[in-house]
Amino acid sequence: DGDRLAEELRRMDGASYGRYKSLTGDWAFPDFTLTVERVQSDPFAPPSRVAVRIPAEVAGLPDHAWHHPVRRRATADHLVRRAHRELKGARLRIDAGGQEVIARASGQIRDGAVELRLGIELPGHGRRIDARTAERELCDRLPALVDALRWPHLDTAAATAFADSVEDTAALRDLLPGLGLVAFVADGAVLPRRSGVSDLPMEGAAVPFTAPESMRVTVDLPHAGRVSGLGIPEGITLIVGGGFHGKSTLLHALERGVYDHVPGDGRELVATRADAVKIRAEEGRRVERTDVSAFVRNLPTGADTADFSTDNASGSTSQAANIAEALEAGARTLLVDEDTTATNLMIRDARMQRLVHGDREPLTPFVDLVRPLHREHGVSTVLVMGGSGDYFDVADHVVMLDGYRPYDVTERAKELAAERADAAFTSPAARVVDPRSVDATARGRARVKRRDMDVLTFGEDDIDVRGLTQLVDPGQVIGVGLALRLLAEDGLLDGERTLAQALDALEERLAADGVTALGRGYAGDYALPRRHEVAGALNRLRSLRVVR
Ligand code: ADP
Ligand code: MG
Repeated sequence: DGDRLAEELRRMDGASYGRYKSLTGDWAFPDFTLTVERVQSDPFAPPSRVAVRIPAEVAGLPDHAWHHPVRRRATADHLVRRAHRELKGARLRIDAGGQEVIARASGQIRDGAVELRLGIELPGHGRRIDARTAERELCDRLPALVDALRWPHLDTAAATAFADSVEDTAALRDLLPGLGLVAFVADGAVLPRRSGVSDLPMEGAAVPFTAPESMRVTVDLPHAGRVSGLGIPEGITLIVGGGFHGKSTLLHALERGVYDHVPGDGRELVATRADAVKIRAEEGRRVERTDVSAFVRNLPTGADTADFSTDNASGSTSQAANIAEALEAGARTLLVDEDTTATNLMIRDARMQRLVHGDREPLTPFVDLVRPLHREHGVSTVLVMGGSGDYFDVADHVVMLDGYRPYDVTERAKELAAERADAAFTSPAARVVDPRSVDATARGRARVKRRDMDVLTFGEDDIDVRGLTQLVDPGQVIGVGLALRLLAEDGLLDGERTLAQALDALEERLAADGVTALGRGYAGDYALPRRHEVAGALNRLRSLRVVR
């Protein structure tokens, strides 16, 4: 038991650091089991990894904390955040996430038992074992942590409120399709963040959200009860307004609305359909055999745009590829902000059409495709556009932000609208990926690493993931890499299934087995990615080959 570990550690004191390896395995404590999964080879290597399993009787979770799958995920998240606070100043570390509540390997609840995965920098005096410090961490601090997480010792009101809040967000998101909405922003929501580098809510000066009367929708939630707010309907919604009036802030909140937020975030009751994907231009990205012909035709190079590849896409072709690939992966709501788009793919005004016409312009602007996308393909668009009125012609709803307050200006915009002939949109062909082109193990090195939120190292390849703005957690970057590994090495990409079918299979696997289905031998923290970001990383993998 714990005493046995303490004795073992004392025997190791001053021995060479490598002897820590002998700790690998299970250690039974009175209240929990500690599993030393992986021991670092020297004091400067990445931290060692341990798992802690607290059985149901000890954890003492009441049924309401974990029987419902959404509440189970929320409670696990709350426990991990609590553990993170308890471990301030410790050598033990736990990955606790930011403002979003995302399933992560560091905290799982299974059969009522709590499983935590932690890192620990095993202490050394130079390259000799510092057993006293190790003993303090593993034999004192760890049992104290477990004790603090037991239900009666925990702040159970906060834990319950946390689960209630997450359950409400999830319920709200589930209500959207039935209400014909793609998103909902509750009255009173606080959308702006503290700064460009802090995802915490803006303090003091934030103007709380208030829905325009004509677009106000009321929903009934399990805990918050009746809640009103802006319902953004299916179809085409245009967000206009002067510069600095809060347009991008609203769109960012919608991007993040595919995730649940912690209580106090201000965006707890902002929910967006799970199939919503932010579209942006991404000059320089690679494209592998994507059908961009709806947007691009008759390139001066003569390239076949129905089967388009490039190692260095332009702003407009990258955005076209991003749209085609998002649809292929199952996106049915597109979120677009003028700040990050290629203007020539978005609009073309009458004067420019007179000057550059016919075959000289390879691009069909999005404004001519956005209606057929909705009417014939069921794809809705929420678009921020303050610089051009062209979208008045095609928008179903126009929301103007004025001093951070939204107004319904649809009627006024329609008075200013002109007739517009739509172009035709045909769905891009479904691609089949060559699994060998993704199999990092077969191609040499199986490593999965990240550099901040910017680069996912997958085998020999560095994938630039900066364009995937709905990747919100460092753990998700690793999660994406592990998902790619699973897709390739478990035969989900089998050279027959389409990419969309492979993503379906991945989602089924994760729904059945949880986020740790991604891990298998990975010694580190990771969190659950969406299928859209997994597809996004795959599409940016420079070794990717598509067979058809
Ligand atoms: P736009 O896209 O319309 O130019 P932004 O969304 O970038 O405007 O917002 C401009 C600034 O206003 C940002 O610094 C943002 O944090 C702040 N802001 C946005 N919404 C609010 C709000 N509801 N209350 C207070 N400040 C806000
Ligand atoms: Mg903006």
